[in-house]
Amino acid sequence: MSSNWSNWSGFVRAEPKLIASPADAGELGDLVRTAPGPVRVVGAGHSFTPLVKSEGTILSLERLEGLVSHDAEKHQARVRTGTRLGPLMHILQGIGQGLPNMGDIDRQAIGGALGTATHGSGPTLGAYHTQLETVQIVDGLGKLRDFRRAGDQEMIHAIGVALGAFGVMTEVTLNNIPTYRLRRRKWVLPIADMLREFETMMAAHRSAEFYYIPFSGYAQFIASDLSDAAPTPRPPEADEAGLRTLRRLRTALAWLPSLRGRLIRSAVAKFPAEDYVQDWLNVYASDRQTKFNEMEYHLPFEAGPKALAGIIELTEKHFPEVYFPMEVRTVAPDEFWLSPFYRRPTCSIAIHHDAANDPLPFMRAAEPIFRKYSGRPHWGKMHSLKAAELKKLYPRWDDAMAVRRDIDPQNRLVSPYMAGLFGIEPSPSGSER
Ligand SMILES: Cc1cc2nc3c(=O)[nH]c(=O)nc-3n(C[C@H](O)[C@H](O)[C@H](O)COP(=O)(O)OP(=O)(O)OC[C@H]3O[C@@H](n4cnc5c(N)ncnc54)[C@H](O)[C@@H]3O)c2cc1C
Repeated sequence: MSSNWSNWSGFVRAEPKLIASPADAGELGDLVRTAPGPVRVVGAGHSFTPLVKSEGTILSLERLEGLVSHDAEKHQARVRTGTRLGPLMHILQGIGQGLPNMGDIDRQAIGGALGTATHGSGPTLGAYHTQLETVQIVDGLGKLRDFRRAGDQEMIHAIGVALGAFGVMTEVTLNNIPTYRLRRRKWVLPIADMLREFETMMAAHRSAEFYYIPFSGYAQFIASDLSDAAPTPRPPEADEAGLRTLRRLRTALAWLPSLRGRLIRSAVAKFPAEDYVQDWLNVYASDRQTKFNEMEYHLPFEAGPKALAGIIELTEKHFPEVYFPMEVRTVAPDEFWLSPFYRRPTCSIAIHHDAANDPLPFMRAAEPIFRKYSGRPHWGKMHSLKAAELKKLYPRWDDAMAVRRDIDPQNRLVSPYMAGLFGIEPSPSGSER
């Protein structure tokens, strides 16, 4: 009997023949071999693209979670990949370790975060996959295989950004750092100043990012730096209340842009500046209740301001329904073959659209601006690229595809969406069984 599945935003839906939650790697291996194909694995379903969609089998790793072992001296932790980032933070804090950086939320499974090159912000900080020391997978034939950076660095680079297509990751060892404390500050400034000072301001902090508030002319800048000071209370979350105000003004004044702009500016001026010190695990993540769909492109760092200016102009001229702030971050380059940050200091720009409305006209109009600057799409966020275009953006593409064929020779993990992404024919044993 088939069941229904949908992603976080509700935009991607599937009716797989089977949804299963294996209890251990043995059961997982049997399912990968014998369950109706294509077999796709889900973390927390927080991707916006149809990566997880399957009309065959969706495998949830929610029962494969928790700490396996740790090395206190090297600050390494081996964890099961179904572990959500929220519980993971507390596990790590309990053993004196910290994740060097995090994205906006802590709901993802670590396997899912690795699956799409999930990232936070910081010019010297890599995405989660750059922490990988060892990876254990169940391959497309249902066999357990182990890879470690020491001795097998190429394989770690090939499969670290996994997309659920280079086997199913069961356990990973992460290189963490000793627990730490951050001073977090937020303030508002004119977007013209932000764009002019972009390189200096983004480079001046361990972690820096900003949001542009559409139709306002203002940005909210967020900086986090290491601190030894005593903790102070984290102010209550104001993001959802701010969004409600922006949505109300959009709904009432979408066709009166100058009045809307004036009212937003006066609301923005009242945003309280923030300044607090907290342990790392109390700083990064926010609560995201209002559902949206999102596109994020990773651009060469220096292209960030021009691309953002283009996106702002497009939005404010043609898409009055948009009210979500645009998010701008930096990510350090890395060596992972399917990483959007491969050998490139990066500026990431994310745009959001209320999940109650069709996001596609806005996303389709914005994408050429990102592509003009050689943007690489976030694997888990909306984009329209297929193999022919992706191959041009990833110098090690062919090598990655050769490794994928070795790991999954029968294309068991290849859904029609994945086949389009990788330029391969879904085989009978993958999609039709
Ligand atoms: C509210 C919200 C906030 C977000 N904030 C950020 C952010 O700050 N930064 C950022 O970069 N992204 C962000 N994202 C995107 C999100 O982090 C990614 O889409 C991430 O992949 C979702 O994790 P998940 O566990 O839900 O994975 P899923 O969406 O369930 O899966 C993602 C991919 O990973 C694969 N996968 C999952 N588990 C495994 C495994 N064990 N082995 C092999 N492959 C596996 C899946 O098959 C799929 O291909 C956000 C998304 C939402 C909805």
